[in-house]
Amino acid sequence: MKPFEKHEFWFVTGSQHLYGPQVLDEVATHANIIARALDAALPARIVCKGLVTTPDEASSCIKEANYDSRCAGIITWMHTFSPSKMWINGLKILNKPLLHLHTQFNAEIPVNDIDMDFMNSNQSAHGDREHGFIGARLRLPRKIVAGHWQDDSVLEKIGAWIRSAIGCTEGSSLKVARFGDNMREVAVTEGDKVEAQIKLGWAVNTYGVGGFAEQVRAVPEAEVDALYGECREKYDIATDNEESVRYQLRMEAAFKKFFIENGIGAFTTTFEDLWGLEQLPGLASQRLMEAGYGFGGEGDWKTAALLRVMKTMGKGLPGGTTFMEDYTYHLIKGDELVLGAHMLEVCPSIAAGKVRIESMPLGIGGKADPARMVFEGHAGKAVCASLIDMGGRMRLVCADVEAVEPIHAMPKLPVARVMWRLLPDFETGARGWITAGGAHHSVLSYTVTADMLEDYAEMADIEFIHIGAHTDIHSLKRDLLLADIAWKLR
Ligand code: MN
Repeated sequence: MKPFEKHEFWFVTGSQHLYGPQVLDEVATHANIIARALDAALPARIVCKGLVTTPDEASSCIKEANYDSRCAGIITWMHTFSPSKMWINGLKILNKPLLHLHTQFNAEIPVNDIDMDFMNSNQSAHGDREHGFIGARLRLPRKIVAGHWQDDSVLEKIGAWIRSAIGCTEGSSLKVARFGDNMREVAVTEGDKVEAQIKLGWAVNTYGVGGFAEQVRAVPEAEVDALYGECREKYDIATDNEESVRYQLRMEAAFKKFFIENGIGAFTTTFEDLWGLEQLPGLASQRLMEAGYGFGGEGDWKTAALLRVMKTMGKGLPGGTTFMEDYTYHLIKGDELVLGAHMLEVCPSIAAGKVRIESMPLGIGGKADPARMVFEGHAGKAVCASLIDMGGRMRLVCADVEAVEPIHAMPKLPVARVMWRLLPDFETGARGWITAGGAHHSVLSYTVTADMLEDYAEMADIEFIHIGAHTDIHSLKRDLLLADIAWKLR
């Protein structure tokens, strides 16, 4: 079973009638073989849509793709030469992600047999250049993958792009519920919700906390019993305060019911508005993240929605994806580490080893001690991603990081935590993130890569800034300056 069984990507092969019906038959055969191989190797369904040989065929294929809700993107390949003026009317109206696969059927040139017939039917080397020109001329956002279609790295790149396209599809139907507004006076978690919906599709709306608190009180005791039993099997309940755990599970049940009834995929809470609730949702938010919902603390709807989108993009891959916050540093020269955590809400999908449930005072918010899961994140390569509103445009900042085994036990720290190194080094990584305006909140993911996020940003038409091994501050500052000018000119 594929992770994205319901999503189709259409494989569309370009040609023309110049070479006669025999060549077109061969082109169609090759297209079918390639589409079948891609379908077997990739995380979504690949559907062979046959050949495009005329302007009308190009337009009608793309119109059909635009209106078919199963179609999440198209993959084009020019087996022969397909004069690209015939693609203009179609590509002008394309509203789905586009991948141009620059490949050819045979891997090797058949040196002993090659003749002009072979040359005429296997000419993607120049057919795809004609197709590339019209993509460039139309300024189309598109991914170009080059190499033989059976090569693992080619398949991996197409697979990653498919995940980015699924992120766009997910965003276009995503509803985000905000319980309470933004934390007072905080700037970076603010943003233009209308712009976010225009670019990313996210519908972000608010719901009364008081109304929700009533729904929490109405959760039947038997439902809480069932969830408590589930937790006892799954985690180590390391608190005597059973009532605190049960209250979190009551909130979890009420959230879930509300989300299903209203089609919600991500949500925010804030410790500054818990009217009628006894605790800040901690364990409840963690369990909902574990189930795939997006979450952002302190009213951070951008991170909540991004988390949902990235969890969807990473579906079926190992590693985990969570809401995260840069909390404090280990600033030993040459061995600098970030300690990431949150007040309560870190998703256990990133946990190494067994998860403990504890109940402790929170220190802020003035409510009862909230139950929460406590664990250590695992080691591995990951990204931190942060979406900010630059005024007039959204910017997605992505940093490559290397999560490490915790270097200390930290027995008195009552929250889930993970430690990571910045790339290329602490100073450049931290300066780069801060220069670009990245938030203290982020989505930490071991599954989604910077390449996937770059493609996602291009599809959504938002700015993308990547900080990693390649980064130097002077180039980054120049890139930010040029990007600022370019985005203002658009
Ligand atoms: Mn926070």
